Amino acid sequence: MQCTCDRCGKEFDRVKDLPLDVTLTADPEADDDPEIFPLEGDAVDLDEVLSTCFVLDLEAKCLCRDDCAGLCPTCGADLNLGPCNCRKPRDPRMAVLEQLLDE
Ligand SMILES: [Zn+2]
Ligand SMILES: [Zn+2]
Repeated sequence: MQCTCDRCGKEFDRVKDLPLDVTLTADPEADDDPEIFPLEGDAVDLDEVLSTCFVLDLEAKCLCRDDCAGLCPTCGADLNLGPCNCRKPRDPRMAVLEQLLDE
């Protein structure tokens, strides 16, 4: 898959293994459960099975690496490449003060 990191916006490739463990049923009434797939005759719509399993297996976050540092919210620098030159607020209360001074 080609992914875009949720934190730093970098595009990266990753290999995804998709475990397929689904239940097929001939009962046309049993489609309440999204993980149970109805048989159509003696066949099943593999596209639907695969896309459903794919979505169910997606992680909530897509990161280029687990410890991605992301982008600086102030200057947008890629913090994976090193710290940026922005002032680091030491204390949330100080940050508010600094913001007031900036205005
Ligand atoms: Zn990233
Ligand atoms: Zn910065």
